[in-house]
Amino acid sequence: MNDYLVIGTDKKGHFRAYAAITTGLVEEARQRHNTSPTATAALGRALTAGVLMSANLKGDDLLTLRIIGSGPLGAVVVTADSLGNVRGYVQSPEADLPSKNGKLDVGGGIGNDGELSVTKNMGLKDPYTGSVPLVSGEIGEDIAYYYAKSEQIPSLVALGVLVKEDISVQAAGGYLIQAFPGVEDEHLKSLEDRAMSLPNVSSLYNNNLKPEEVLQKLLGSDFVELERKTVDFKCGCSKEKLERILISLGKEELADIIEKQNNAEIQCHFCGDQYNFSTGELETLLKEASSN
Ligand SMILES: [Zn+2]
Repeated sequence: MNDYLVIGTDKKGHFRAYAAITTGLVEEARQRHNTSPTATAALGRALTAGVLMSANLKGDDLLTLRIIGSGPLGAVVVTADSLGNVRGYVQSPEADLPSKNGKLDVGGGIGNDGELSVTKNMGLKDPYTGSVPLVSGEIGEDIAYYYAKSEQIPSLVALGVLVKEDISVQAAGGYLIQAFPGVEDEHLKSLEDRAMSLPNVSSLYNNNLKPEEVLQKLLGSDFVELERKTVDFKCGCSKEKLERILISLGKEELADIIEKQNNAEIQCHFCGDQYNFSTGELETLLKEASSN
């Protein structure tokens, strides 16, 4: 499954529009983190949001989305870069809830008491973080609220994940439409009306609509595609990066690990990959830590 993101606008220049199909990357996240259906839906929506929200990043820019609510899933954290690489995890991937009104209960899993924050690391500038209280924990609504409150951009957000009987991912994707400054309420209203008249976004992708076709449905014949890029679940972790983290723990901590455990097994939160360090390797790192 090739996931991709489409960036576009409308001929009148009222909106910037983003849509992505993310079925493959959400299924990869499910397998890596062994998520329950509720956790798959929550993480999948957050990963899809990360893809859409990072569409305008350049170079080494990085976006981090954190959703921390009071529900049983705990925190959901996603990072996305300018190359279409996205990764993420949910703190309690095993947590699951009965479905609500025939849908996976993401709002109940996240909980509506909490915070959503977005951090943008843009080049050499200091990172920018904006945060808002959660509205519903359904994620799409929370992100629309974030844009309205924190960035003053009226936005329409839809995120959806459809999970099969066998708990694998059937379809996932979403869209984000943002109004340019000065767009009149009537244009926003007619866009909202069109969005309301469509089936929910996971059904659109499940019915084999492509991201550009989803945007055509929303913006009509005015839709103009500007750019398209492939998106993937990809984590930048490596043994070398973890070595640096281990060294940064300091010599006492490292000596303690060697004494008590002999070796160390470290799992990357974001992708679940496991890295093993033997006693010999840890001793080499200890030497480096001692010489710093
Ligand atoms: Zn990783």
